[in-house]
Amino acid sequence: MKTLSKPLLNTKAEDIFEECVNGYRDAQKKNKLLSCKNLIATDSASFDNTIPHNANNFSQSTLPDEVSNKEVYSVYDDKFARQGSPGRHYYDTIKSQPPRGVCPICGIRIVNTLDHYLPKSEVPTLSITPNNLIPSCRDCNMDKRANISFVPSEMPVHLYFDEIPNEPWLYVKIKDNFETLYYVSCPESWEVGLRNRMKNHLDIYNLHSLYSSHAAQEIADNMMRWENLVNQAGIDELKIHIERECKSIESNDINSWRAALYRALVSDFDKLKDYLQSI
Ligand SMILES: [Zn+2]
Repeated sequence: MKTLSKPLLNTKAEDIFEECVNGYRDAQKKNKLLSCKNLIATDSASFDNTIPHNANNFSQSTLPDEVSNKEVYSVYDDKFARQGSPGRHYYDTIKSQPPRGVCPICGIRIVNTLDHYLPKSEVPTLSITPNNLIPSCRDCNMDKRANISFVPSEMPVHLYFDEIPNEPWLYVKIKDNFETLYYVSCPESWEVGLRNRMKNHLDIYNLHSLYSSHAAQEIADNMMRWENLVNQAGIDELKIHIERECKSIESNDINSWRAALYRALVSDFDKLKDYLQSI
């Protein structure tokens, strides 16, 4: 997981909404939706002020009787995300933010969509609010549950608003058969709400099995190389090699699945040593 800067847009959410709604030809529908413009502004401001640290104080406006939730959140699909729609350039700007196009949530797959931090079906007034839209891969978007808690410690990490210190928080337990178990353990010095949101991360996005399968592949790909190194140069050279790999991977992302794996191989090196000396 990598935090991101807020989307570099100079246009307010309510003005983006208006620009999108103006793309409808049906004048009655357009006028009905435009009557909600001030609600988009109010809810977007409340979102910025409360999410995620103070989420229980987030206040959501009630739509007028004549406007349904679906009519409001459909603006996202109809006039914001669709190719050629009036809001598509905002969509593309937000989607293009993560370095190298890698999903900032899982750190493995490619960004190909935007994830609503607060689901658009539950909070339709935030369906095109940029700070509610997180670039993600399709699987991370799909795996996140649609009903969200407004208790700060139960929410997902917010990649624009949460500040995550550059310290290790992702770890791996390596079992005797070299299967891996990924888990989150944040430093005690971190704010308790953030620590809890971080703890939810692997569960919310179903990342345990994804990371473990990549780790198993990494170990399998390298085992012959490690064996050869031990045979040619001795076990101490392998330890130095693994430590160097770990430092190099951590310098790019200290909490990638690979960084966590190599950290575990360094700290639990005897497991690898015993295995290699037994074959
Ligand atoms: Zn992802």
